[in-house]
Amino acid sequence: MTDEKKKTNSEKKPNPYSVIADNSFSERPTSRQELVDRIANDPRMHDHKEGFLSCIQCGICTSGCPAARFTEYSPREIARRALEGDPTLLTDDVLWYCFSCYTCQARCPRGNSVACINQIIRSIQVEQGYGIKHVEMFAAWGEQFYDKGMGGTPGVFFADMSEAFGPKWKEFIANRDDIREELGLGDMYPSEQAVEEMQAIMDETGFRERLVSIGAWGGKDPKAK
Ligand code: SF4
Ligand code: SF4
Repeated sequence: MTDEKKKTNSEKKPNPYSVIADNSFSERPTSRQELVDRIANDPRMHDHKEGFLSCIQCGICTSGCPAARFTEYSPREIARRALEGDPTLLTDDVLWYCFSCYTCQARCPRGNSVACINQIIRSIQVEQGYGIKHVEMFAAWGEQFYDKGMGGTPGVFFADMSEAFGPKWKEFIANRDDIREELGLGDMYPSEQAVEEMQAIMDETGFRERLVSIGAWGGKDPKAK
C-alpha cells in the first residue's frame, strides 16, 4: 500500500478507542435505556454493536463458555440482561467468572461479544465502587507497572514466594542484578526516559487515577500536589 493510500485510510478511520479515557469515572446509568446505550456505544463494542442489538438468544455462547461449564454463570443470560438494560448487572458478582477468553465472541452467529459486554459492565462496577473488591488485589501489580514501566511481581509478595520457592530462589533474587551484569544483560527495567513516556500515557488515559481509586499507593495519588 502506498504512503498516500495509508494516509487516506487512517484519515477515514478515527481511532475508536480514543474516547475510553473520556468515559472513565462517568456517572452510573440512571435508566435501562442509558445502560443499553452505554454498552452499545462503548468503543470496545464498535465491531459488535449490531450483534449486541440483534442477539437471538441461541445460547451458542453459553455452550462453548468454559466459565459456564463450571459455574452458574451464563453468557446468554448476560447478553439478554444487558440488552434489557437490567440494573442488577451493576451489582452482580457473577460476571466476574468470565475470564475474557473470547470464545463467545468467536462463535456468536450475530457478531455479539459477551466478553466485551462484561468488560464494560465490570468497568462501571469498579467506577461505582462496587467492583473494587474484584480488582484491588491487582493494585500492587499496577503500581509496579507505573513506577518501573514494566510488569513484574511486586516486592510485597517476595516473602511468601521465598517460603514457597526456597533459599535458592531467595539467593537468586538477592543477586539478580549482579548475575545480569556478569552475563552482560544490562538493566532489567526500561530506561528512565521510557518510564517517563509510559507514565505520560498512563496519566493521560486515566490509568494512574484508576489505580489510586482501587487502592494503589495506599489510595494516595503519587502525583497529587
Ligand atoms: S451466541 Fe450470540 S446471538 Fe447467541 S445467545 Fe450468545 S450473544 Fe446471543
Ligand atoms: S469470554 Fe467470558 S463469557 Fe466469553 S466464553 Fe470466555 S469466559 Fe465465557
